[in-house]
Amino acid sequence: MKKATKLAALVLAMTMLVSVFAACSNSGSAGDSNSNAASQAAGQSSEAQAPAAGTELKFGTNAEFPPFEFVAANGVIGQYDGIDMAIAKQIAEENGKTAVIENMEFDSLLVALQNGQIDAVIAGMTVTDERKESVDFSTPYYTATQVMIVKEGSDITKASDIADKKICVIQGYTGQTCMDEMGYPYEAFKKGTEAVLELVNGKCDVVVIDSATAEKYVSDNQGLKIVEDPTAFEGEEYAIAVQKGNTELLNMINAAIEKKLADGTISSLAAQYAEAE
Ligand code: GLN
Repeated sequence: MKKATKLAALVLAMTMLVSVFAACSNSGSAGDSNSNAASQAAGQSSEAQAPAAGTELKFGTNAEFPPFEFVAANGVIGQYDGIDMAIAKQIAEENGKTAVIENMEFDSLLVALQNGQIDAVIAGMTVTDERKESVDFSTPYYTATQVMIVKEGSDITKASDIADKKICVIQGYTGQTCMDEMGYPYEAFKKGTEAVLELVNGKCDVVVIDSATAEKYVSDNQGLKIVEDPTAFEGEEYAIAVQKGNTELLNMINAAIEKKLADGTISSLAAQYAEAE
């Protein structure tokens, strides 16, 4: 590649990174101590991590996030199914590898990636400035937003209505970050299903969670509805994370994602899994 072309590509890539959406309208990049330490450890090194060796490509996920990842009797990768699982399988196979899934808590994913326990994270993970301090993200493959799940008779019509309601979020999700930034108190649950059960049982008034997952929960549970508020919750972009500096794997993933975005594979997977029971 010519130097000028390389530079142009770099500038474009950097512009794309800068223009990545934040989760909430006033989302900053507070950065916690963990990610700072991690980026110091991983970021400055000139030695990029070797790409996934051998024939396995190990993806970390948290299979509690339908329609992106969930446990099913006959998943696309063993017991794991969903949009992300199908994407992971295709990326691996198109590159002569076998996708292996490590299912863990959402909060543990980035640490596992930094430790080299997994090669990449595919978990409906939103690109945020804070996360970018510790890992590199691929080209985004899906746009979502935070929404509010409420009971059908609820008087909540906008985000500011929930200020003094009982709010449920899921630990480590961007929904929690949004509530922190808005300064609303909440209770955090380990799983989306637990938060939704709390709502169904009348123990909380609203669950703040990603849009496609919210739709899944609303269709699976009677008496719930979704309230959107685009003025409070901006678009979020999901991407695959790799270790900082692992450009070889990142390039491989980006090439696959860009092809799947262009040829409609990802949108048809999204449609297919949104409808599936
Ligand atoms: N998109 C949200 C986030 O990145 C939730 C992702 C998930 O639970 N898998 O925090």
